[in-house]
Amino acid sequence: MKSVEQEIADFYAHALAIEREAAARYKELAGQMATHNNPALAALFEEMSRLEARHLKELESRCADLPIPAYQPWQYRWHGTESPESVPYDEVHYLMTGRHALEGALAAERRACDYFRDIAANAADQDLRRLAADLAEEEEAHIRHFERALANQGPLAPDWDHDPDPPQSLD
Ligand code: ZN
Repeated sequence: MKSVEQEIADFYAHALAIEREAAARYKELAGQMATHNNPALAALFEEMSRLEARHLKELESRCADLPIPAYQPWQYRWHGTESPESVPYDEVHYLMTGRHALEGALAAERRACDYFRDIAANAADQDLRRLAADLAEEEEAHIRHFERALANQGPLAPDWDHDPDPPQSLD
């Protein structure tokens, strides 16, 4: 049986991984949007990356005195290889449109929110439930943010993945 302290430390380990992944991935998407000449979305992802990074710092200071386990990526208890808030690499197409980037980000935020909600509903410890509920609420704010941005996007051009000058393969 795990102690409550261990369980909370374990939860923080997962929450930190989620925020760290999200900050890194949004930074990457910001770069891609800038490359694809979409300064508005580049700025949005830049802002989201900053937000997640700030959130990460806050969490780090809140759990600074806890014995946070150092997990390897495969030891986190979620399915698949990436954390719930990251956008899977196979969704990152080199011609990714803003709409796709936003849909990927929105799906990732929803997965993160579900993850926290699940713990908020099912953890035995009350402090842990409250902590998870707080984090779920922050993710809900991110979800609304991306939903708004998505609503402002135009429809996707049917030939969005047509590249008149595709990258050359190296072999
Ligand atoms: Zn988020």
